[in-house]
Amino acid sequence: MGATPGDALRFETRAIHAGQEPEAEYGAVNVPIYQTSTYAQPRVGEPKKYDYARGGNPTREALQTVLASLEGGRYGLCFGSGMAAETTLLLCLAPGDHVVLGDDVYGGTYRLLSKVIGPWGIDFDIVDMNDPVAFRGVVRPETAMVWVETPTNPFLKVIDISLAAEIAAEAGARMVVDNTFATPYLQRPLELGADIVVHSVTKYIGGHSDLVGGAIATNDDDLADRLRFLQNAVGAVPGPMDCYLALRGVKTLALRMEAHCRGAAEVAEFLVGHPRVLRVHYPGLADDPGHEIAARQMAAFGGMVSFELGSEEEARAIAERTRLFFLAESLGGVESLIEVPGPMTHASVAGSPLEVPPSLVRISVGIEHPDDLIADLDQALA
Ligand SMILES: *Cc1c(COP(=O)(O)O)cnc(C)c1O
Repeated sequence: MGATPGDALRFETRAIHAGQEPEAEYGAVNVPIYQTSTYAQPRVGEPKKYDYARGGNPTREALQTVLASLEGGRYGLCFGSGMAAETTLLLCLAPGDHVVLGDDVYGGTYRLLSKVIGPWGIDFDIVDMNDPVAFRGVVRPETAMVWVETPTNPFLKVIDISLAAEIAAEAGARMVVDNTFATPYLQRPLELGADIVVHSVTKYIGGHSDLVGGAIATNDDDLADRLRFLQNAVGAVPGPMDCYLALRGVKTLALRMEAHCRGAAEVAEFLVGHPRVLRVHYPGLADDPGHEIAARQMAAFGGMVSFELGSEEEARAIAERTRLFFLAESLGGVESLIEVPGPMTHASVAGSPLEVPPSLVRISVGIEHPDDLIADLDQALA
């Protein structure tokens, strides 16, 4: 596959061209789906390039190249899901290491640390990363990783990436940013001091709710070596078909994000003005607590909006009454989705420090016309 075009090309161009030259033999303009588990070798132990598809696949490599390029990273690695990417990353830690986690991280990340990785001897603390005193207070000599997610899920809290990077550097820890909600179109953590970016490719990067995938990007040579080793040794790799779907999705990431952001801003303003809505969480609102930092570190404010109603019954009823917003978990697809995090996406964090109020509703604003989406919410809230 071709080299990553340099910084000279803009984001929109790299999304279509990085790692995606026309195929050598027939000139196909799309990267073929190399649906194979193994590769014929001309001579014993001398493969042309790949020997076995867990270790490498050209469709996957194209996706890795474009995602690295979009994040401003030299290295990209793809996985079978966001959680597979996170698991592989956490396997870079050793027993005795300590992790600092934001207090509103993805529930699956918390579950992975508390129920899977933690018992192998990795300790962690949860902290409000917008409180630098508390943040510095939980850092220890053993802190090896600082895990930031911004904007967060489901409260859309915004964490100052540069400040977190400073605290991680003081501790000699590597800083990870889960960039799933913002995407590299809106926010590039590696440029703000993060060492590692992780993604659920399932969401905006894939963008069409038709695949599950994950990715990591970094500029750290040693870490990239270790991750490449683990990608093959652990084997949580994506199949070529899903890589192809993600490649197809990523080509329109810039266009889609523009539409998601525009729609979410309009929907958030509508919700702010609705008498049944008690509070709206959206960093694009001028009085949102995260607005100032978001305006500094993001190009726009994203497509996710959360809002609070008077009761769980109201939240459930509204989520069941929308017609265009499908009642479903996940986010980041072209179609709008609505859900009640308490009993749905965040059921696994009930009783934990990450528990969310049952009267909260989360929406993923798709790329339909905002007027239609607002009319749908209006009838559901009537
Ligand atoms: C969905 C999600 C994940 C997990 O990704 P999967 O692809 O579902 O495994 C991690 N982080 C965030 C912020 C997510 O939204």
